[in-house]
Amino acid sequence: LLLRSKPLSRKARLARGSRPRRVRRSPLGRLRNKLDALFALYVKDRDGAVCITCGSRPEGQNWHAGHFFRRGIMSLRWDPKNVHSQCGIPCNKFRRGALAEYATAIVERYGPEELARLASRAKTIRKWTRPELERLIAALEQGGAEYEMAYAEMERSA
Ligand SMILES: [Zn+2]
Repeated sequence: LLLRSKPLSRKARLARGSRPRRVRRSPLGRLRNKLDALFALYVKDRDGAVCITCGSRPEGQNWHAGHFFRRGIMSLRWDPKNVHSQCGIPCNKFRRGALAEYATAIVERYGPEELARLASRAKTIRKWTRPELERLIAALEQGGAEYEMAYAEMERSA
């Protein structure tokens, strides 16, 4: 009985039809990457060089588009009110997003009902289709206002 067999050689894996994970890049994955990059640019352009959580505007800072609900939560990954400019190392990295200050900032900026909407949305599963991702990318390429409108419309019908 062979319980612990040796790992399969590359040739054997290929023969079985499974390829190393790295090779598998789905078209959907590429669209997500593109949307991530364009969306981060939009957020940083919208907010400028002011950190959502500490309010500082240090020179030469490495700015991040910092998520309140982490970016792995797909229902909020590209939500304009879940992501803001954040100083890269102090707040986004060392303070892990500084979430207490982040919550306060969201309430001050948009009101408590917006924080509640985000919290409720965070609990939902959202699967993005290719046409949806393409639509968001196209909207971002046109500009921020177009993106906000397209996003809000898709949220209403989701
Ligand atoms: Zn900061």
